[in-house]
Amino acid sequence: MGSAPDFPRLPPSGISVIIVGCGFAGLTAAIECDRKGHSVILFDKAPELAPLGDIISFGQNSSRFFAKWPGVPEALDAIVHRSEVFHFHDWTGRFVTTQDFSEEHRRLGGRVNGHRGEIHQILLAHVRARGIEVNLGCKVVAYEEDETGAAVVLEDGRRFGADLVLAAEGVRSKGRELVLGVEDRPLPSGYAVFRTWFPADELRRNPTTRYLVEHGDSHNGWIGQDVHFLAAAIKGGSVMSWVCTHKDDAAIEESWQFPGRVEDVLKVLEGDWDPVVLELVKATPPDRLFDYKLVFRDPLPTFVSPRSRTVLIGDAAHPFLPTSIQGASQAMEDGVVMAACLDRAGKGNVREAVKVWENIRYDRVHRIQQTGITTREQWHKADWDAIWKNPESMHLQREDWILGFDAEEDAYARYDEIRESLPQEVPVA
Ligand SMILES: Cc1cc2nc3c(=O)[nH]c(=O)nc-3n(C[C@H](O)[C@H](O)[C@H](O)COP(=O)(O)OP(=O)(O)OC[C@H]3O[C@@H](n4cnc5c(N)ncnc54)[C@H](O)[C@@H]3O)c2cc1C
Repeated sequence: MGSAPDFPRLPPSGISVIIVGCGFAGLTAAIECDRKGHSVILFDKAPELAPLGDIISFGQNSSRFFAKWPGVPEALDAIVHRSEVFHFHDWTGRFVTTQDFSEEHRRLGGRVNGHRGEIHQILLAHVRARGIEVNLGCKVVAYEEDETGAAVVLEDGRRFGADLVLAAEGVRSKGRELVLGVEDRPLPSGYAVFRTWFPADELRRNPTTRYLVEHGDSHNGWIGQDVHFLAAAIKGGSVMSWVCTHKDDAAIEESWQFPGRVEDVLKVLEGDWDPVVLELVKATPPDRLFDYKLVFRDPLPTFVSPRSRTVLIGDAAHPFLPTSIQGASQAMEDGVVMAACLDRAGKGNVREAVKVWENIRYDRVHRIQQTGITTREQWHKADWDAIWKNPESMHLQREDWILGFDAEEDAYARYDEIRESLPQEVPVA
């Protein structure tokens, strides 16, 4: 399938890219490669990409990408969460502080918060509108490469080759075997999240929960000892999404997402938890509740295969804890920077582009990954005497070096300098 003509793109670069995985990493990489004139083809093992999930937040550092994709900002505008403030409470319901994001938005631009599945569908529709080939129901079972290119092998035996393969297949990445030379499994983080998203009609009828949904969108958090509970009313208060992060040491050998049980959530919230929270949980339709074990891993030594023709991006390279609020944003930055590096390098220098890309991405992504732990500890191990003296110490750290960053501009600005600094033995063909 050829590229659709009605989107601005650079002239054809002659570089072919295979992307495995249609999550936020894969879709962004595909759009950006298309923008830069590379030819791209996507594979995903899922037979369909259904609009599943709960609320997700894209910081200004990734929201800026949406603005470059014709039609996407308008589509997002129809579905995004509109609250500018976040109210913190302790677990019993005592109000602690309000974090107001309006100044941040004036300074750095807006963020995009909304239903994960709906935002994902908007990006997928944009990928298709660009004419990019999307192959669903295609599980990649093997990665291969030599000095001149890379290939993927599908479960049905078909083999596809390209100048570069991006393995964007999430935490259970098969591509990691080629990159690391050993089979590698994600580790439990010691935490899990109950997650849900459901129509708010019953909450509106209940006098205890009505205030959360009757004035449109709202955002509230309750912070307890090693547990936090976040609730967002979306779409004018017609839909409720909540997540509850708690300690969990279940094994994740085969799976890390299970149907959730209301009684299990209530067990986590035993004690003097706010009745508002308990009512929210009790109103949750059981078939809409998921128990998601959070996985983590120590930083990989590299994201790049031995011959620099296969690259891990997104969660395949660096799974994030939700408390960083940056996993999807960093997955998107990976794709944006790769497309720009390939543009700068040209077809004859794909492996050089990959090395420069890794150099640009590696430190930034790992520094930001750490913020997931910092925020979780800031909340879960809160010193409440100190918090009552300084309630704002509970606020999310919203740092300019993360949010005010333009990954595309930075990649173009630093490409030459980084290429010059690469060790001599790095191949340049
Ligand atoms: C509870 C929770 C809340 C979060 N909240 C936020 C937030 O607010 N903001 C934020 O930025 N991040 C958040 N994150 C993190 C974010 O969701 C992830 O970092 C991001 O979605 C990763 O995207 P990805 O494309 O790398 O991987 P995925 O979304 O996992 O996509 C991988 C794709 O690859 C496909 N695939 C897998 N194996 C194969 C194969 N062998 N062959 C073909 N296809 C394959 C899968 O079907 C899937 O479609 C949150 C995470 C969690 C768990």
